[in-house]
Formats: sequence, structure tokens, C-alpha cells
Amino acid sequence: DTTKPSNFLRQIIEHDLAAGTYASRHFAGSPGDAAHQAAGQPDPAKIRTRFPPEPNGYLHIGHAKSICLNFGLARDYGGVCHMRFDDTNPEKEDTEYVNGILDAVHWLGFGWDAFGTSHLFHASDYFDFMYRAAEYLIDAGHAYVDEQSADEMRHNRGDFGHPGTNSPFRSRTPAENLARFREMRDGLLPDGAAVLRAKIDMASPNINMRDPAIYRIRRATHHNTGDKWCIYPMYTYAHPIEDALEQITHSLCTLEFEDQRPFYDWLLDRLCEGGLLAQPHPHQYEFARLNLTYVVTSKRKLRQLVDQGHVSGWDDPRMPTLVGLRRRGYTPESIQLFCERSGVSKAGGWIDYSSLDIALRDDLDPKAARAMAVLDPVKLVITNWDELHGAGTLDDCSAPVNPHDAGRGRRSFKFGRELWIERTDYEDVPPKGYNRLYPGNKVRLKYGHVIECTGATRDAAGHLTEVQATLVPDTKSGTPGADAIKVKGVITWVGAADAVPAEVRLYDRLFAVPHPDTGDKDFLEELNPDSLKVVTGYVEPSLANAKGDDKFQFERHGYFVADRQDHAAGRPVFNRVAGMKDSWAR
Ligand code: ATP
Ligand code: MG
Ligand code: MG
Repeated sequence: DTTKPSNFLRQIIEHDLAAGTYASRHFAGSPGDAAHQAAGQPDPAKIRTRFPPEPNGYLHIGHAKSICLNFGLARDYGGVCHMRFDDTNPEKEDTEYVNGILDAVHWLGFGWDAFGTSHLFHASDYFDFMYRAAEYLIDAGHAYVDEQSADEMRHNRGDFGHPGTNSPFRSRTPAENLARFREMRDGLLPDGAAVLRAKIDMASPNINMRDPAIYRIRRATHHNTGDKWCIYPMYTYAHPIEDALEQITHSLCTLEFEDQRPFYDWLLDRLCEGGLLAQPHPHQYEFARLNLTYVVTSKRKLRQLVDQGHVSGWDDPRMPTLVGLRRRGYTPESIQLFCERSGVSKAGGWIDYSSLDIALRDDLDPKAARAMAVLDPVKLVITNWDELHGAGTLDDCSAPVNPHDAGRGRRSFKFGRELWIERTDYEDVPPKGYNRLYPGNKVRLKYGHVIECTGATRDAAGHLTEVQATLVPDTKSGTPGADAIKVKGVITWVGAADAVPAEVRLYDRLFAVPHPDTGDKDFLEELNPDSLKVVTGYVEPSLANAKGDDKFQFERHGYFVADRQDHAAGRPVFNRVAGMKDSWAR
């Protein structure tokens, strides 16, 4: 696809396709991929990528980046993206998260159907292979069982600029190691008593190459394999093997794994040498993780916000989780657009939250139905209404459902003696440049009539309770001569007779600072205390039929969604997704 802006990953893939780097791949027979069941068949997928979340929480906007990248590249280059659960860490994983992750990927617009098959990959499906590969490494003298304490191991690893010290267990024979490793597997050693380590180089300048642990003892029930295993592979050992077994070509990860790449290659080279895997093996490429301002995107921190009740749950509309963004009203298209626009590079950095709102507006402006809503209502009385139109009468007004698309028709609502307007649309004494209601000024009520403000009423505390105005005859929008009287201000309104009361949740940034959790402060102290304001407003009658998840542009106010959980007929609840323009620059 040459219409997409290029990036370093696209260039690598295009180079590999042109050079035929992976053209000779024959499928090795990974489980489940029906088109490839016959090992030795050429792989019909031009490239293979994967999205490999650990099912230990809900996906967030950073994961969306990885999803769009991996599924998007596979789509654009005639490849396949594997949906894989990296479930090697039994204590923290749960099927609730597995289902949440699948829902989120589907919702974002991606599936894992390839060549007529739809298969989910699990790292835990390869535990047998990983175990055999470990025995192979032991046999070949590339791995040993270390029984130093965790403290000794840490101490002997050395640190940057100081080489490590060989473990006293490093010179065991393969036969001794194999026997001991089998004892680990058979549950004869307690948790933590020993680890299997790759035997590489304790003096390597890359600390990850100083004999990394590849298996540990952990008595924990696994969500997929139950109690079959009491030893589990380490992530750094498991991940390259998962990629290789699935014939992944381009294994994309975030920059913090750059220092792991030498081990990734070392391991796969050893297993290819031993004939356990076929060349060419997958390659790892790193890109900068997505950081979004005003939120945190660490699963651990997000869990803390949920567990401590700072938000209402993983799907709280202020959360940067995909379930949260969805409930807030962000569309899958807007998130895809956002991820595409944020680009792919090696240089880290923060993407401003406003980019997400810009993408949302770009997506919804042509699509969303318009509506008028008054969020801080004060009554407006047209004092000459009865005289001009007759007591109790209502006048039909209408407006386009979407001004970009006349085909979607018009919505209608009623004008009458009493209306609701925004409290901020009236001032006793107008500030400089203020064109809305103040005594003696004329404004247009959008899609309605021109009125002239005559005064207002306040209660004893000075609180505005009512605004009065007179209607200027023959000024109704859309009628001949309506524009004869020029006014500078146009305000929105709803009719007191047909407006529908609604709960409106005005969401703002979750954190008050752009880069939370980067300074000395506890990130909880950086939460924005005003991230949610709930008001009761009035919306135009067309919204009485809104369904959960329907999205609207409330004219002047921004984009709103009927809350997926709480909105119901007769009890409307709307969430503000984003304002009409960025108002956060305070
Ligand atoms: P967290 O750091 O939030 O706990 P994680 O990296 O541990 O997330 P995984 O479930 O292991 O979460 O991630 C699945 C994939 O999503 C990985 O390939 C990972 O690199 C990618 N990913 C996670 N966070 C981001 C991010 N902020 N930007 C881009 N990709 C990300
Ligand atoms: Mg992880
Ligand atoms: Mg992480």
C-alpha cells in the first residue's frame, strides 16, 4: 500500500519482500493454522506479525498503537497477524482479561481470520516445545541449573561497567544439569530453589547476556495448562520461541526490549543449529512506545486507580483503556486515525491528548447527528409571544441532521413562549466583545427567531433566575427576509415545552499535569480533581430516541455519546467525548 506514509518498519518490510528474505519459508506446522497443517507447504502469508498481550489487565491506548501497527502492516502487505496470548506468567493472568482483550481488538476493527481459519495462539500451547528446547540447550552445553540464592545471583551479575562472576554451578556437566532440571520439572525442588540459565557470557557488556534465567520453579495454577507444570519459562526465553514456531517474520516490540534482541537472536540461532527450528528465523524490531499526555498507560498504575476507587472501573470514561475510551465515546475509526497519525519511530516522546480529540472530531464531524442541548439552563421568556402568536401556541422549527449531508433529512423541535438557554449567554453589563444577550441587544436563536433582550430577574442571592426578551417579528430562520435584521450573536436553545431533561457527564483530563508519574510526586496527587462534572441539562426532543453508544454533536458544546451502561429510554445520560475545539490550553 503506497498511499500510506512510509516509516522505517514499512521500509524494512518492503525491502524484505523485494529481496525475498522470507520467500522460501515452509510452514513448520504450528498448531491450528489449518491452511498450513501440512508441514513443508510454502507459507501463503507474505509476512507474519503478531500482537502478543499478556492477559493480565485491560488494553490501553498504547496497545491500540501496537494493534494498529501489527494488524495494519499484515493487512497492507498481504500477510497475517497472529492474535497471541503471552500467557507465561500464571499468577497474574485471568480469562476475564482474555475476553476483554479479544473484545477490544474486535471493536478496534481487527480480526484474526486468515486463509479461512480463525485461530487464537497461546504461548502456553508451546510449553512442551519450550521444555524440549531447554533440554536440548542443556545437552548442547548452552544451559545450566543454578542454585545460587536470588541475592547471590543478583550480586554476581555485576552491573554496568563491571563484569559479573561465574556461578559455582556453571561448570556442571550436561548430565548433571539434565538430572537436576528434571527434578525441577518433577516438583522435587521448592519454588525459588533453582533456575535454569542460558550459558552465554558473564562478562558481556550487555547485562541481558550474562547467563539470563530461562526457567523458574513456580507452583501456580495456569489458566490454560492448569497444574501440569510447576516450572515456567521466562518471558525472554518464551517470546522468541513463540515467534519462531508461528513463523513470524517481523516481531515488533517497544524500545525497552532493544537490549533483549541479542538474546533473542542467540537463542533462535542455537535452536536453529540444533535443528529444532528452521531458518530464516524471525527478527525483532523496536519502535518507541506511545505515551499520551494527561494519562498514565501502565497496567499496574491503571489497576491502582481502579482498586483504590479513583475511577469507577476499567471502563470509566476517563481511563485510557480501550473499554474506557469506548465508553467515553471515542470511535474505533478515531483511534485508528490517531494511531496512524502518531507515526512510528525510534524516538520516544509524548503525544498530546488533543491529537486524540482532533481525530475524534475528524471522524465524527461528517457522521454525527447534530442536536441542541443546554447544559447550564436558565429560563428565557418571550414576553410578547402570546400577543404575537397566541397563548399556548408552539412554532415548528427544524435543522439539518448533518449539515454535510442533506440526505439525512431534518430534525424538528418547537419554539414557544418559554425556552431554555445557557446561563452564560446573558450578562447585565456586557464585557468587551460580548455579542449575546444583554438588555437592548438583539441575537438570533439558532434555527428560530431574532429576539431583543429586555431584562432579567435575579434572586436575593443575585443568582440569575430568568431572562426576558421580545421577539422581533418576521425574522424566522429560513423565511424570506429573515436576515433583514443583522445581529452579531447567535445562541443555541431548547423549547421548554418539548426539551428532554438529561444527565450530562462532563469529562475532562484524568490528570492535571501533562506528564503524570514522571516527577517526584506520587502520581495519585496529580489526578485532576475536576475530571468529572455532572450536570442536568435539557436536550432537544430528537434525542429522546437515542440509544446507548449513539454519538452526537451538541451544537457549540462538542461531541457527546449516550452512555453505554447508564443511558436508558426515559433516563437519558450523555458523556462529553470532546469539546468543539481544544480548550485545555489553560
Ligand atoms: P504495560 O507496560 O502497560 O503493562 P505491557 O507492555 O506489559 O503493558 P503487554 O500485554 O505485554 O503489555 O503488551 C502487548 C503488546 O503491546 C506488546 O507488544 C507491547 O510492546 C505493546 N505495547 C504495550 N504498551 C505500549 C505502548 N505504550 N505503546 C506501544 N505499544 C505498546
Ligand atoms: Mg507485558
Ligand atoms: Mg510492561
